[in-house]
Amino acid sequence: MKCPCCSSDSMKAGRLETGLPGYICQTCSGSLLSLSTYLDWAHAPGELSSRVSEPDNCAINPTDSKQALSCPRCQRLMLKYRISADSDHKLDYCFGCQEVWFDGGEWDFLKSKGLANHVTCISTDVWQRKIRERASEENSRLRFEALMGPEIFSSAKDFKTLIEGHKNRDAILAFISASNLVEGETDQ
Ligand SMILES: [Zn+2]
Ligand SMILES: [Zn+2]
Repeated sequence: MKCPCCSSDSMKAGRLETGLPGYICQTCSGSLLSLSTYLDWAHAPGELSSRVSEPDNCAINPTDSKQALSCPRCQRLMLKYRISADSDHKLDYCFGCQEVWFDGGEWDFLKSKGLANHVTCISTDVWQRKIRERASEENSRLRFEALMGPEIFSSAKDFKTLIEGHKNRDAILAFISASNLVEGETDQ
């Protein structure tokens, strides 16, 4: 079996975790995992955390193939799914063969983000939609911060928290946006 990432012939049967067999590329450290094997492992009795080893150091700087990969089993293009809103990393799936590909260090990266139990969720519509929503919230937050500058943004955030749930929140916001109610000008 050829490695979909580095095209070498060095894919060997191995283990991602105790009890989790897969194929591991001896050249680029990428790994191919059957989703069915993964589900059996993830839903085996007992706490999953007890079966997940500490993430390796490579989790700090995992590789992420940008190009579309061909499934090493059926040669069709694999589909990429972003793993979370705060990371651009994508996992590659072949649903025909029910396999997922981790680039070198990506499995450890997933573990370091507490997502080792989410491999099958990541490719779902609901997960992907949540990521897009969070990414768009983060974008507007950054836009506001850039407009206000860090100091005012930080005070505005505190104030926002302060008035959250206040019964007259709308009145407070109306007061802030009213230009003619500044102290000293109201009693004239
Ligand atoms: Zn490889
Ligand atoms: Zn395939």
